[in-house]
Amino acid sequence: MPPSEDQHFDVVVVGGGPAGSTVSTLIARQGHRVLLVEKQKFPRYQIGESLLPSTVHGVCRILGVAEALERAGFKRKLGGIFKWGANPEPWDFSFSVSPRLAGPTSFAYQVERSKFDSILLDNSRRSGVDVREGCAVSEIIEEDGRVVGIRYTDDSGQSREARARYVVDASGNGSRIHRFVGGKRNYSDFFRNIAVFGYFEGGGRMPKPKDGNIFSVAFDKGWIWYIPLADNLTSVGAVVGRENVKEIQDDPAAAWRRMLKSCPEIDALLDGVDQVSEGQYAEVRVRKDWSYWKDSFWSPGMILVGDAACFVDPVFSSGVHLATYSALLAARSINSCLDGTLTEDRSFGEFEARYRREYGLFYEFLVSFYDMHRDEQSYFWKAKKITNCGDSDLEAFVELIGGLVSGDTSLVSSDAAIARLTATSAEFETAVRSSKDSDDLGNPFFEAESIGAILSEGANLQGRAMFGEPIEPEAPLFTGGLVASKDGMSWAEPADVRN
Ligand code: FAD
Repeated sequence: MPPSEDQHFDVVVVGGGPAGSTVSTLIARQGHRVLLVEKQKFPRYQIGESLLPSTVHGVCRILGVAEALERAGFKRKLGGIFKWGANPEPWDFSFSVSPRLAGPTSFAYQVERSKFDSILLDNSRRSGVDVREGCAVSEIIEEDGRVVGIRYTDDSGQSREARARYVVDASGNGSRIHRFVGGKRNYSDFFRNIAVFGYFEGGGRMPKPKDGNIFSVAFDKGWIWYIPLADNLTSVGAVVGRENVKEIQDDPAAAWRRMLKSCPEIDALLDGVDQVSEGQYAEVRVRKDWSYWKDSFWSPGMILVGDAACFVDPVFSSGVHLATYSALLAARSINSCLDGTLTEDRSFGEFEARYRREYGLFYEFLVSFYDMHRDEQSYFWKAKKITNCGDSDLEAFVELIGGLVSGDTSLVSSDAAIARLTATSAEFETAVRSSKDSDDLGNPFFEAESIGAILSEGANLQGRAMFGEPIEPEAPLFTGGLVASKDGMSWAEPADVRN
């Protein structure tokens, strides 16, 4: 049966996680008709609880949820503590080390994703998105080589159809529809780990003000995350090599407890603390095969964002950042095409190129971070070498781990810091260029030349978020490429933005 008139949209988004809610909000705000179809009823559980400042003060501010996040009372994360690498002693970093993060925005949040994702999805509804929960997409409709809609089962079990100019796959790592853009999902040979994780009713805390920081501890089988979500709730997960799969599959909870016990720093923090025994946090969960990228992020009529497109590894908490950043890029491309200002090739080409480079930056640094024979000075040095931002190696590391070098940041609250950022962006570009051939730790996406341009895009996004307009005319990321429009919601030719 053909769909009724109320099943025709400009855009259909599949999945209501951070990627789906972000892209749908930013398109609906431009006056377009958007349907978001989410399989589950919110609030629902999800892993990925440690955020980066760039998400909190960048994309979330652009979305208009910064105050809602503040009101939710999430634990503030001022930085991180690592027991990692050749140094036998724990070492830590604070976001405030970077002048670009200093001041009132030098923090991120540790979030219960059931609450965080609901705030973003409610915001989509308020922005005019038709959000339908309990609706699972089962099929993609293709006609003449173009994706034109979806088939889904609604919350009463009825089969339905919706048609649109664009279908966005934001259905996460378990996406069953990403194959419709064509190409393969390539799994990383390097990050072939498995995670087993659960929750405790509290646990030891670092002395204030570091009591909200993430603690990442390497142990003989891999590493453990310790994330204080609330005074009476701690997320603890072990990330270990594939050789431990059988032990974990046989009895995940027992394997998890054994691993935590074998790590003295974690065992001490959890001494006498009970595991959560009721509700969404009672289960011990397992995830594997999370590191992959698609050959292609779009095809005529269909776009992949967030985990549906790619994911690197949990160690730097970059997942939600990549999900929301890719959603912003995709929204710009879709808005441009719906408005008829750009061709699909040009608009989605810009989206894909920027997203791949972003992913490549994290991928490259993480490969070197997993080399446990180095000490922290060596990691900081590597961060500086890759990004060439910050005045020192430590600053470069903090800016990388804060999501600031990835181009989506609105992190600075003082005029002085913004002036500094503006003044140094030219210097970044020169320095970045000089580092191009200095490293052989390549991955298929990373091209260091782009990072200077990504940084200056970050400055502009930040300016937009704080003041409603870019702080300086934006330079295209690629020769002949596009820049964000004045309102940041679509792409434009550089000359059009300058005038
Ligand atoms: P999701 O959050 O997965 O949302 C996808 C949505 O689509 C879901 O709500 C799902 O119900 C819905 N859906 C699925 N199929 C369908 C369908 N057929 N029809 C309709 N709806 C559908 N990231 C961080 O930032 N910080 C961390 O600390 C962190 N830790 C991690 C630890 C581990 C072990 C792993 C594996 C990942 C971690 N991540 C972390 C990554 C993070 O979980 C993801 O990157 C993030 O959730 C991606 O958001 P998304 O919106 O793309 O997808």
